[in-house]
Amino acid sequence: MKLIFLGPPGAGKGTLAVRAVNVIGVPHISTGNIFRAAIAEQSELGRSVKAILDAGKLVDDETTIALVRERLARDDAQKGYILDGFPRTIPQAEALAGFSAVDKVINFDLSDTLVLERLGGRRTCRKCGANFHILFGKPKQNGICDSCGGELYIRDDDREEAIAKRLEVYREQTAPLIDYYRKKGLLVNVDAGPSPDAVLENFKTSLDIAG
Ligand code: AMP
Repeated sequence: MKLIFLGPPGAGKGTLAVRAVNVIGVPHISTGNIFRAAIAEQSELGRSVKAILDAGKLVDDETTIALVRERLARDDAQKGYILDGFPRTIPQAEALAGFSAVDKVINFDLSDTLVLERLGGRRTCRKCGANFHILFGKPKQNGICDSCGGELYIRDDDREEAIAKRLEVYREQTAPLIDYYRKKGLLVNVDAGPSPDAVLENFKTSLDIAG
């Protein structure tokens, strides 16, 4: 199954993707995680995108499309994938259509108030990228990742100024993809407001997945 996870920052796309891969057995491909890993490794890509991510802006389409095209060509993505955070612009969606045919686009709906509440309290693992929250979804041990024991930190782009920028970028460049995919008959809406367990159930029901 080839899926796109769409929705505002903070809608829980990453959290749900981690759970959903266990259910449908396809890789979770997050462009944000790929960029953050490149920054942590201080690779050439990482050095060129760090300031962009820190400011909450978008990496250019050409770089992002090339990266996803290469990732989707690998063996593990042939039977399917969950694309989390890509496409984020109409040109990215058009490029994707040229090299892969997606089955469904899941749009995670969340009000602005909830987006701000969630992003403000998010803590991310430096090592594996897993997300936690200071109010909902606390880690078992303060500051430590439940999955891999890595250190939890506040992403630079989860700071107030960057959050405002990310929301503006989302509204202007990414939200138009909702209509784009609706017109293609691929859009499935899932309410991202409830708990992660409930959102996972809604997701499975909307795709008619058992288990
Ligand atoms: P995310 O973890 O999906 O919120 O992504 C974090 C940051 O990575 C974004 O704010 C952008 O700077 C960059 N990024 C991730 N995906 C894309 C994309 N498809 N196009 C451009 N920039 C992206």
